[in-house]
Amino acid sequence: MADFEIAVIGAGVVGLAVAARLSEKHPRIVVLEKNEKYGMETSSRNSEVIHAGIYYEPGSLKARLCVEGRNELYALCKKHDITYRPLTKLITATNQTELTKLENIRQNAGKNGVELQLLDKSSTLKKEPNIRTEGSLFSPSTGVISVHDLMDFFFHSVQSNRGIVQHRCQVADVRYVNGEYEIALDEGGTQSVVSAAIVINAAGLGSDLIAQKIGIDIDKENLRLSYVKGSYFAVTSSKANLVSRLVYPVPVNEGLGVHALMDWGGRLKFGPDVEYLDDRSLDYSVREEKRHAFAESIRRILPQIEDEDISPDMSGIRPKLQKKGQPARDFIIAHEKDRGLPGFVNLIGIESPGLTASPAIAKYVERILFS
Ligand SMILES: Cc1cc2nc3c(=O)[nH]c(=O)nc-3n(C[C@H](O)[C@H](O)[C@H](O)COP(=O)(O)OP(=O)(O)OC[C@H]3O[C@@H](n4cnc5c(N)ncnc54)[C@H](O)[C@@H]3O)c2cc1C
Repeated sequence: MADFEIAVIGAGVVGLAVAARLSEKHPRIVVLEKNEKYGMETSSRNSEVIHAGIYYEPGSLKARLCVEGRNELYALCKKHDITYRPLTKLITATNQTELTKLENIRQNAGKNGVELQLLDKSSTLKKEPNIRTEGSLFSPSTGVISVHDLMDFFFHSVQSNRGIVQHRCQVADVRYVNGEYEIALDEGGTQSVVSAAIVINAAGLGSDLIAQKIGIDIDKENLRLSYVKGSYFAVTSSKANLVSRLVYPVPVNEGLGVHALMDWGGRLKFGPDVEYLDDRSLDYSVREEKRHAFAESIRRILPQIEDEDISPDMSGIRPKLQKKGQPARDFIIAHEKDRGLPGFVNLIGIESPGLTASPAIAKYVERILFS
């Protein structure tokens, strides 16, 4: 018999959500995490927005799992005292061209089952008197969540279900041998091997490389990830009260556009921008040279912000499946039994709305494995 029934590679919000759910019925589960604590990569470097599900391609996994995950997250927050705020969101159009795009966004959201209200200029200014606007879309179901609280909740659920989260434990290799998976581990220079009947690859920025280790040609299959950095700038405290909810521009090109958000310390921040990286180093520094371009993007929404009102804050790195300039791709969540890998599940390209979708991703993984 294998050492574990299930091994989950990666203890970000997705790996933890999956492990929390599966451990309810399958307690012989281990989560293998290379860092010293769970959630130290993308899961703690994001906007913490509970997305409504507005922009995603109708029928896509992103759309379906975002809407389902959002409802689940609100329910989890209420039931388990996880910190959240139902802040709501405005998408503001700042000229006639953008105004015409609002209707397309509203229709797309409608196909995803997301209700948005179209507001004229004066109704928008009643909600947010300081923003630049010709009209907006109001999303009542968008909110923010403490991702750390959420990950703590999933982590403790795994533990109380008798599962194990093993930190400082890098997966160096995975092989399918005699009907089970042999997982080679590197724990601070000490090598070992554990076996599992089921492996779930939730390794975030490293998920494509885990797929490669199990024998998938990630270049031929177009699964090699691009690293796409998103930086944030914080606004000086004297201007932190200029908005009271999430405010987004009408999206242009890739990403949702630099938007306004509030962190848990009450600071107003703007971000994330979109920067394709040339390599896979995890450089989270925010470059001062971006200040002017950032301030310009912010002034699209808040004309009162001067260059000197903002300062470099934090950044995160998106694991994107598409290369620069290519159309958005959907999440890959695949039980690889057709490749001769029964019980091996790949989760690749889990960029936004991966946090929002996390509890729904967990259910989806359970379904493709066990029903
Ligand atoms: C700038 C930015 C803003 C975002 N904003 C939002 C938002 O507002 N709302 C939203 O819903 N989503 C948002 N997202 C997306 C969301 O953060 C991610 O979808 C989510 O955090 C992905 O979680 P994960 O568990 O898949 O990945 P991660 O958090 O990256 O976790 C993967 C884990 O795997 C581990 N790992 C990797 N390789 C190995 C290995 N070989 N062995 C062992 N462990 C390994 C890593 O150390 C890591 O801890 C944003 C993302 C970014 C970058």
